Amino acid sequence: MRTWLSLLLKAAFLICFFSGALCAQTSPPSAPGAGSTVIINARVADGTGKPLRKASVRIAADHIVRIGTFEPEKNERIIDAKGLVLAPGFIDIHNHSTDDLQSDPIAETQIAQGITSLIVGADGDSPWPILPWLDALRKNPAAVNVAAIAGHATIREQVMGKDFKRHATAEEMAKMAKLTEQAMQEGAIGLSSGLEYEVGSYSNTDELVLMSSAAAQNHGFYMTHIRDEGNKSFEALNEEIAIGERAHIPIEHSHIKVSTVAVWGKAPEYIRVIEAARKRGVDFLADCYPYDAWASNIKVIMPDKQYENPQSVEKALADTGGPDTVTITEFKPHPEYENHTIAELAKQRGISPVQMYIQIIREGDAANTEAGVIGKSMIESDIKAFYQRPWVMVASDGGIGSHHPRGAGTFPRVLGLYVREKRWLTLPEAVRKMTSLPAQRLGWKDRGVIREGAFADLVLFDPDTVIDRSTFAKPFELPSGIEKVFVNGELVWDDRKPTGARPGRVLPK
Ligand SMILES: [Zn+2]
Repeated sequence: MRTWLSLLLKAAFLICFFSGALCAQTSPPSAPGAGSTVIINARVADGTGKPLRKASVRIAADHIVRIGTFEPEKNERIIDAKGLVLAPGFIDIHNHSTDDLQSDPIAETQIAQGITSLIVGADGDSPWPILPWLDALRKNPAAVNVAAIAGHATIREQVMGKDFKRHATAEEMAKMAKLTEQAMQEGAIGLSSGLEYEVGSYSNTDELVLMSSAAAQNHGFYMTHIRDEGNKSFEALNEEIAIGERAHIPIEHSHIKVSTVAVWGKAPEYIRVIEAARKRGVDFLADCYPYDAWASNIKVIMPDKQYENPQSVEKALADTGGPDTVTITEFKPHPEYENHTIAELAKQRGISPVQMYIQIIREGDAANTEAGVIGKSMIESDIKAFYQRPWVMVASDGGIGSHHPRGAGTFPRVLGLYVREKRWLTLPEAVRKMTSLPAQRLGWKDRGVIREGAFADLVLFDPDTVIDRSTFAKPFELPSGIEKVFVNGELVWDDRKPTGARPGRVLPK
């Protein structure tokens, strides 16, 4: 008798649980069922920018089903937020985790920041073909939701092969547009370009307009790392706006910056050009990472690739901010250079910074390696000016395995440094830039916001302690203050570690 009764009860529980889950997929239930969770005593930043409000939030299956003042039912799991902030999970629109999601699906450095959805395929470089890549992720899901953008350079190489150092013919452009359309139909959510990089840099505006039009017809957007972020950044911005207007496509400007000495301090002027375009009806949004330093190899500062030409080197060093702003981070042939600037190394040796640069190039070439360097990309007043515009969101340009501290630190850094310490942004506004603003660009109506009926992608953090801890020396150091992270209603980060759950989905437009 007893066994039968317990079986019956188990069956009833299962039916109840699964019908709750099914129900939540279509129209969210308002009544709690077994398996629901209530977060009490939370201060809710709902993602829209509205002030924080105290509320309880009920999660059933993968949805938020109730927000307000109510008592949990007896059978519900209760999480006492103890006054922590509850926000929608952060959406990272520029994330380079493409290659690492299969080997590290838990994505610890990402969930530890509160990221619940990430978008791969930035800078013109994407998985290809898109469909099998997305299918593999459906079979072997990650802890986070993932969406993919089709890469312009990736498609360009499909059509032009190794013969890409020229403008494409009309016939080749038509093929690229066709492949863009195919990628969109396979599940890509937009088109990205990286016009400062090798393959993308040889394209002309017409090619980009044609491909963007194909993306626009399939409800995609155009995300771009523009042709130049330094001396010619205004020309590059104008080309980007022209593409948006000619192709009738929404724009996402990647990692907005004015990054050479000639344009330092010109963020207000840059903003004026963008806001004039927005007034004309161009749907222009941008993202920005919260760091004033870039990290790359020592050759990257030479746009003309004349590494041993003293005049070119002198100009390049001056453009990046001078030899006292370029620090060697890694150099196997001479580890004693590490953590010194080019100016310091030159002085120690009694030679000019130009001679020192050329010496490091030669020593690197001889050992078949290149020195790792960091340099100053922006001045603080420009970063602040960009972040304070309502159309600028937060994105990392990092990802799993990124050696720049932004890969593990971006979102907590904005909350700790720009909200709490510097007071550039209010907390609700910063949260909006991490949630509903990227969701707006992605066309996602049920994520990036805390509302009844939305998906339960949530992060619970302590606004008094949240901060990044990753540095150039220790890029994988996890941040503090992120307490719990839910993806589709399941806890993925709790008690300062991953739970091991992988409820992430492949997300469409
Ligand atoms: Zn980029």
